[in-house]
Amino acid sequence: MINTELTFKDDSGGLLVIMPSAVNRLLDYRQIDSSSTEAAGVLIGERRGVHLVIHEISEPGKGDIRSRCFVDRRGEHHQAAIDEAFVRSSGKLQYLGEWHTHPEDRPSPSPKDLGTWRRHLVAQEQMALVIIGCCQIWAGKKIGNDIFPLLKI
Ligand SMILES: [Zn+2]
Repeated sequence: MINTELTFKDDSGGLLVIMPSAVNRLLDYRQIDSSSTEAAGVLIGERRGVHLVIHEISEPGKGDIRSRCFVDRRGEHHQAAIDEAFVRSSGKLQYLGEWHTHPEDRPSPSPKDLGTWRRHLVAQEQMALVIIGCCQIWAGKKIGNDIFPLLKI
């Protein structure tokens, strides 16, 4: 268990903050066990100006397709989690991006990840991208069609 948030920064000072409760949920899915499968979900939080603050995540469940090096979050519960958080928070908490795991220590996006994000993560506003490795977390942002890594601070 950790009790501090994780903070990442882009080149212009925009922050991505992941609150401790969400960090702990994400770390639970690290593929440390050799038989563990990839996990994926959505990031839910608030926009504060140019900053993104992740408060909650959706987690693997029924309908998701998972294997050692592949995941497709098909389950309907992911959208339900977004809708539920939006209503509960009177619109403060919203869909901010995607997370998934990789069975590697220091993860980075695969060509397939980049292609999927470019095709399916279409938004007017900046979106957050997170990959949970065994030792490290990769975080990035998508702005328009550009995807770039963030620096952990
Ligand atoms: Zn990936």
